[in-house]
Amino acid sequence: MLQETNIESDRMSESKEDRPALALNDVRKSFRSGGDALEVLKGISFTVRPGETVSIIGPSGSGKTTLLGICAGLDQPTTGTVTLCGEDVSHMGEDQRAAIRNERVGFVFQNFQLIPTLTALENVMVPLELRGEKNVRERARELLGKVGLADRVTHYPIQLSGGEQQRVALARAFVNEPDILFADEPTGNLDSDTSEPIVDLLFELNRNLGTTLVLVTHDLELAKTTDRLLKIDHGVLSEINASGHE
Ligand code: ADP
Repeated sequence: MLQETNIESDRMSESKEDRPALALNDVRKSFRSGGDALEVLKGISFTVRPGETVSIIGPSGSGKTTLLGICAGLDQPTTGTVTLCGEDVSHMGEDQRAAIRNERVGFVFQNFQLIPTLTALENVMVPLELRGEKNVRERARELLGKVGLADRVTHYPIQLSGGEQQRVALARAFVNEPDILFADEPTGNLDSDTSEPIVDLLFELNRNLGTTLVLVTHDLELAKTTDRLLKIDHGVLSEINASGHE
């Protein structure tokens, strides 16, 4: 479904640099709860290579969303280091982290987070406009075409199925042709029939553009299709190998 793009060669050569797409070193995160500190992430270290696909699974409350937010430079660890696209985002102010996110990072969320009062096209145009790009209407049409929604551009989110809304969200996540895409339960609100094409699309983007994928999911079938499977439990991360053993 995803068409070839002429930006492919540039992005591929850039993402084939030796440096990791993401590296965490002994990351800890505590939240204040009343007078006490609740340690949610307990010394997490892992590295993701450019172009890899990685799933993070774990029970509710185990720290998945907190970890994803820290990996993506949305939040900072209490201690430890996070290197995202070669930059140490754990010792940066919000403005610098936002600049890196805007340039190199894409996000997809479980609840799509589309703007309900805007059409599919306008939802994709907004971030293009914010980036100061030219020909935003044409670019947005092109991106929606790539996710198979050329005939839905004037629809409002409420007029789209969950799967179609997630496609708009994916088109929007790709306005900056990100090096790395973070997805928090991307199929969490979709039934199995609708989630399959979304999963296919994520992997097409990974293959065609070399985009690194880091997914948080409850869906073990989806998790097993990624290159690596990481499990978090009570804030401790372990890697599950191909045979299913930790
Ligand atoms: P998961 O995504 O695996 O369900 P979360 O990362 O959302 O888990 O949450 C892990 C733990 O951290 C939970 O106990 C949650 O209540 C707590 N937590 C998350 N964010 C905050 C916050 N901003 N303040 C206090 N506690 C938080």
